[in-house]
Amino acid sequence: FPGGDDAPRPRVLAIANQKGGVGKTTTAINLGTALAATGEEVLVIDLDPQGNASTGLGIDHKSREVSTYDVLTGEALLRTIIRDTAVPRLAIAPSTLDLAGLELEIGQERDRAFRLRDAVTALNADPTEPPFTYVLVDCPPSLNLLTINAMTAADAILVPLQCEFFALEGLSQLLKTVDQVKSSLNPELTIHGIVLTMYDARNNLSGQVVADVREFMGEKVYETVIPRNVRVSEAPSYGKPVLVYDLKCAGSEAYLRLATEVIQREKRLTERLAG
Ligand code: ADP
Ligand code: MG
Repeated sequence: FPGGDDAPRPRVLAIANQKGGVGKTTTAINLGTALAATGEEVLVIDLDPQGNASTGLGIDHKSREVSTYDVLTGEALLRTIIRDTAVPRLAIAPSTLDLAGLELEIGQERDRAFRLRDAVTALNADPTEPPFTYVLVDCPPSLNLLTINAMTAADAILVPLQCEFFALEGLSQLLKTVDQVKSSLNPELTIHGIVLTMYDARNNLSGQVVADVREFMGEKVYETVIPRNVRVSEAPSYGKPVLVYDLKCAGSEAYLRLATEVIQREKRLTERLAG
C-alpha cells in the first residue's frame, strides 16, 4: 500500500460530549492505555485546545512545537507530530492553545470539516511504520468545528456521561449533531456507546442516574460503569494514565473492563459491516 488510499485504516472513535468535566479526557487516556495493553496500536488525538490529554500523557506544554493545529491547518502531516508516551503502543498527537483559533482560520474553507478525516486516512501510509489500529479523538467541550472534524473522521462516537443530576441534559442536542453529521458528512457514523463516569456508590442519586440513562438509551449504555476514584483524578498530575499510576485501583479495573467491552462491540460492528 504505497499510496494513501490502500493503507490500512484504523478504527476511529471520537470521545465527545459538549459538557466539560464529564470524563472525556480521562476516558481517552485510560481506554487508550487499556487498548494498548491488549496489543492494539493506539493513537490518542488531542483536539481540545486545553491539551489535557497531552499533559495527562506526560507531554508538557513547553515541549509542544507542532500540534494538531498544524495538522488541521494543513501545515504538518499527522505522523510527523505524534509523540510516544511511557505506555508501549500508545502515542499522542498533542494539541496547543492555538487550536482555539482554528475556526477563524479555516472556517470558510470548503474542506474545513474533512481536515481530520483526511489526516487519519493518510496516517498509516508509510509501510515501514507499524499501523495504528485504534485512534481515539479527545474532543473539546463544545459542538464546534473541532468536534465536527472528529465526528466526520470517526467510525463511531463514544459518549461519557457523568453520574449527576443533569447527566441527560444536552444529550439530545449531542445526538442531533451526530445525526446531522451522519446525513451530510459521514453516512457510516454510529454511536459506539455511552459510558457512565464518576459513579459514587454511596450516593443514591448516582444509582438513579444509571437507571434513568439505561432506561432512556437501552443497549447503547456499556455495562461497565466507571467509579469515582481518587486515584483516577491524581494520575494526570503525574503525567500518567491511572493504569500506570495504580493498576490495582477500582478506576483502573473499570477502564480495563470498558476496553474489553469496546473490543467486543467492535467485533460485532465490523462483522455486521462485512456482511
Ligand atoms: P472532560 O475531558 O470531559 O472535561 P475530564 O476527563 O478532564 O473531563 O474529567 C474532569 C475531572 O474529573 C478531572 O479533574 C478528572 O481527573 C476527574 N475525573 C474524571 N474521571 C474521574 C473518576 N472516575 N474518578 C475521579 N475523578 C475523575
Ligand atoms: Mg477534556
